[in-house]
Amino acid sequence: MTADVVVVGGGLAGCSTALHLAQRGYRVVLLEARFVGYGASGRSGGQTIFGLAAGQQALVAQVGQETARRLFDLSVEALTVTQSLIREHAIDCDYHPNHIHAAIKPRHVVELEHWVDELRRDYDYDSPRMLDRAALAEHIKSDRYLAGLIDPRSGHLNPLKLTLGLARAAEAAGATIYENSQVLRYEDGGQVRVHTAQGLVTASHLVLCGNAYIGRVAPRLARRILGVGTYIIATEPLPEEHVRELLPSNAAVADINWILDYFRRSQDHRLLFGGRVSYSSVQPLHLAESMRKRMVRVFPSLAAAKVAYAWGGYLDITMSRAPDFGRLAPNVFYLQGFSGHGVTLTGLAGKLVAEAIAGTAERFDVFTRIAHRDFPGGPLFRRPSLVLAMLYYRLRDLL
Ligand SMILES: Cc1cc2nc3c(=O)[nH]c(=O)nc-3n(C[C@H](O)[C@H](O)[C@H](O)COP(=O)(O)OP(=O)(O)OC[C@H]3O[C@@H](n4cnc5c(N)ncnc54)[C@H](O)[C@@H]3O)c2cc1C
Repeated sequence: MTADVVVVGGGLAGCSTALHLAQRGYRVVLLEARFVGYGASGRSGGQTIFGLAAGQQALVAQVGQETARRLFDLSVEALTVTQSLIREHAIDCDYHPNHIHAAIKPRHVVELEHWVDELRRDYDYDSPRMLDRAALAEHIKSDRYLAGLIDPRSGHLNPLKLTLGLARAAEAAGATIYENSQVLRYEDGGQVRVHTAQGLVTASHLVLCGNAYIGRVAPRLARRILGVGTYIIATEPLPEEHVRELLPSNAAVADINWILDYFRRSQDHRLLFGGRVSYSSVQPLHLAESMRKRMVRVFPSLAAAKVAYAWGGYLDITMSRAPDFGRLAPNVFYLQGFSGHGVTLTGLAGKLVAEAIAGTAERFDVFTRIAHRDFPGGPLFRRPSLVLAMLYYRLRDLL
């Protein structure tokens, strides 16, 4: 068949891209290997957070103050884009405002204090505020944390519902979505030819949103992305007053360790608790039990709560933790490497790639100024070298 644009991948990035292009009148075909939401988007922690994981100082060092500022502003715009997509398309995805970065150690408290100053001084971002231990207790009933940084513009949502909602909105705008349609390869040129086992789509543009699953379809991209295993457990539904007591303001929380714990309430009164990462491709043994222990360390009153579900997925990280957007050919675009901020940035990313295809690439190209490196070690040794790096960070968290 023919189309104007082929989008590969039915996660948040692919669905947002398909929606924004279809709204501009393009004939869009989205090809998804499994089903919409199969990848990170359907499994995610659902925390929607301002900023980029790379950190502003690293970005300033690489691209200069002005571009780093534009990148930060775009990350804040991404929060607004996500919220307006939810509103405009009436996506029922349990959005709640408030997100807290929590400090476990005295040095974390200093880090958060510096951060809040930097955000105000250099980025005019003044919605986050520091909570001391007493103020934090109003939001998290746990002795584990010394202080926190709360941002009411950030929040949390059900990421699978958001992904499915965007897919429906894309279809309503005219895009066609094919599930069970793995792209095996493509040929670029004036017209791009995209092959699945069942057929061929010819289009003037291609957008690759396969992220940590892209593999052999685009080896150049695969070398720059690492799927880090991260895991979540969900308790059985708890008495409403119990779960309210744990997180009275219904904020989402992430601590600021390198290997972080993150958690939130669900709409049906479960506690969703995420953490533990695995840089090898093997799922850790006794995963649910070890996650449960981490959860009870934060909330001892959950010692008797049963774990109803445990799952994992690949978090898409780049070497620098900055998102990796760009072109492999003038008409072949890609979005990947959201590095823990994908729930928010993907909505904006789809909008920017649609702008670029429609002829205004200026905002998309703010991201392409970030240079990205391959992970060391090639396909065979990429993971072993990361396992070593991982041990280093685990030790660092102990300090
Ligand atoms: C457990 C977990 C917790 C997370 N928590 C958070 C969080 O709290 N906040 C946050 O911001 N981010 C979080 N993330 C990351 C976030 O979910 C991702 O950054 C985001 O979902 C990426 O969206 P995507 O569309 O780029 O990729 P994905 O959702 O992975 O979608 C890629 C899709 O492409 C398809 N695909 C790949 N190759 C092909 C092919 N050849 N042909 C056809 N289809 C193909 C895949 O099947 C997949 O469905 C988390 C991730 C995980 C795994």
